[in-house]
Amino acid sequence: MSFLTDLNIVEAGELLRSGEVTAVGLLEAVFDRAHKTEAQLHAFLTLDYGGARAAAEAADDHLAAGIDQGPLQGIPVALKDNMCTRGVETTAASQILAGYQPPYDATVVTRLRDAGAVIVGKTNLDEFAMGSSTENSGYGTSFNPWDISRVPGGSSGGSAAAVAIGSAFTALGSDTGGSIRQPASLSGIVGLKPTYGTVSRYGLIAFASSLDQIGPLSKTVTDAALTLETIWGHDPLDATSYAGPYPDPASGLDLGVSGMKVGVVTELSGEGYEPEVEAAVARMIDQLAKAGAEIVELSLPTFEIALSAYYLIAPAECSANLARFDGIRYGHRAEGATTEALMARTRAEGFGPEVTRRILLGTYALSAGYYDAFYGQAQRVRAAIQEDFARAYESVDVLVSPTSPTVAFKAGDRVDDPLAMYLSDICTIPSNLSGHPAMSVPIGVDAQGLPIGFQVMAPALGESTMFRVAAEVERLAAFAAKPQLAEVVS
Ligand code: GLN
Repeated sequence: MSFLTDLNIVEAGELLRSGEVTAVGLLEAVFDRAHKTEAQLHAFLTLDYGGARAAAEAADDHLAAGIDQGPLQGIPVALKDNMCTRGVETTAASQILAGYQPPYDATVVTRLRDAGAVIVGKTNLDEFAMGSSTENSGYGTSFNPWDISRVPGGSSGGSAAAVAIGSAFTALGSDTGGSIRQPASLSGIVGLKPTYGTVSRYGLIAFASSLDQIGPLSKTVTDAALTLETIWGHDPLDATSYAGPYPDPASGLDLGVSGMKVGVVTELSGEGYEPEVEAAVARMIDQLAKAGAEIVELSLPTFEIALSAYYLIAPAECSANLARFDGIRYGHRAEGATTEALMARTRAEGFGPEVTRRILLGTYALSAGYYDAFYGQAQRVRAAIQEDFARAYESVDVLVSPTSPTVAFKAGDRVDDPLAMYLSDICTIPSNLSGHPAMSVPIGVDAQGLPIGFQVMAPALGESTMFRVAAEVERLAAFAAKPQLAEVVS
């Protein structure tokens, strides 16, 4: 039996336009799926029944009147809860923002609404997007629909779980060090981080501003392109927004990879990588070669130190960004005899342990006397990574690797070992430091039935090339497995 929630955006769009389904019908199917699965998954922090219903009815009215708002019209979309939604609680999964209702919409939210998309709710994440499993959420962990004893990845784990199970057709996440691609990989869906500056950060609760980018988590490569096209573009409200021209992500989806040069990064393999992940990636590389790509082995030595540089730069930026949460301006406020005591107590009560660790790390790294040794050194590593990438892209069109060294891990397995958790992002972090686009596509499952993701990286504004390769990977993989939980509730 097939379900409306199994449809992709293109299929759903055709049914909407032919009148065979309504936006309200799609929304009801999605809410029904959420009701049957949220007790196990906890993908959402908030489901916005009223707002979503009104948006679906409006989409149906527009469709009936022949007003075409584009591919996301009437499509149920989930948003990571670090994107501001006017009047709808937005917490970034932190207790310090409990009850916060933003007075404005993030630019991506405005663009979704203008495109007739139906925002179903706000998804769970690691507090302030710091983590790789959603276990750092201040509101409880999300679980993986492929095996509910495991994490969906993070920090955009709620968005990944929601799309994987069909509680949304597509979703937005944010990726600072891998938080879209890694959960997409662990949850068997497509996810990508676009070129830095192409999607507005206005209304995204900042973690590390020079690294943060919003992007889609979707069922298919085409759905990801359609979602990206809807949200990106210049925004005067974001000082780092790219003015254009923008590439067309969908322009090469059918072109195949014949004649393309695909670089395989030597450093993103070996110790710490699960053999089944490496084997699946190697098989895909063989398939790409058979499909006409030229495969080039490349060494990018700075990738070995990317993680260390990231864990200075990201905490340094977060320690500055999170200074604004002081109990005066937003959310939670503790009692205190003096303003200072109030602020100190609010922050001690409101921030969880990982966020506190990052603020401490970052404040230390930026302190006088240590600034150059830590932050300055990390910035030099960042520049060297950019040079390594630039050199690689002189001889190849894209770079490929696993998205994550392992499949989804058991909840609890890495919570007491921050370093093990940090290693989850070893393959994804370089593209954040360079500002380049990178994408994860599911290519198979391991012997336990857990999804494996394949990463395609491209140079700045190389989205057309990246999507072209990703589309071929998707065709070659013919990934058709379904999460266990989907079978239970179907
Ligand atoms: N897991 C990484 C971290 O904890 C990346 C997070 C992200 O991309 N938001 O910082």
